[in-house]
Amino acid sequence: MNEGHLFVVSGPSGAGKGTVCRRLLEEVDAVLSVSMTTRLPRPGEVEGDHYIFTSAEDFERAIGADELLEHALVYGNYYGTPKRPVTDKLRGGTDVVLEIDTQGAFQVKERCPDAILMFILPPSMAELRNRIEKRGSETEEAISRRLGEALKEIELIERYDYCVVNGVLAEAVAKVKSVIVAEHLKTGRGASEIIKKYKEET
Ligand code: 5GP
Repeated sequence: MNEGHLFVVSGPSGAGKGTVCRRLLEEVDAVLSVSMTTRLPRPGEVEGDHYIFTSAEDFERAIGADELLEHALVYGNYYGTPKRPVTDKLRGGTDVVLEIDTQGAFQVKERCPDAILMFILPPSMAELRNRIEKRGSETEEAISRRLGEALKEIELIERYDYCVVNGVLAEAVAKVKSVIVAEHLKTGRGASEIIKKYKEET
């Protein structure tokens, strides 16, 4: 059986990557990895669904035990991808989507060179500010900090395989989906299986 594909989705906070990923998963056969974080839950966030919320001590223990595929300090909190669920799913032939920041994305690419890196861009910086303000959960200082961080992340898009502007949500989802479909059509990793099938049929 072919292994599943590993897709990494990054983008500035407020670019809408969470919404894109959720909508995407209604349309493609893939699972979203649930990250661990030391940040506090926001209203409406559910333990084990949005994140595994944990203490800094537990997080550091997981790092020490090499239980994380990648981890990063983002806005003063730890975030990381538990390794085991991802590798199990991939081995079982299921595609996995990681919604993680740029530091984590490059660690994943290093460890899993076949991973496909996608970056979700906002239509403009003004629209990004608009979206962050609408969330209403951030102070002006935090918003300015997030915009500064956003620009730093955008400067890294050359290291991503694909970038998609999220202006109209349905269009962004369709584009991300088309990347997934195209990656599955690549000859590379599946070539020997395909050749075997045709040989057996001969
Ligand atoms: P938020 O606190 O808004 O949910 O997420 C803040 C940032 O952390 C976002 O850019 C998000 O993609 C990133 N993030 C979430 N989970 C992970 C993870 O497991 N690893 C890394 N490196 N970043 C993550």
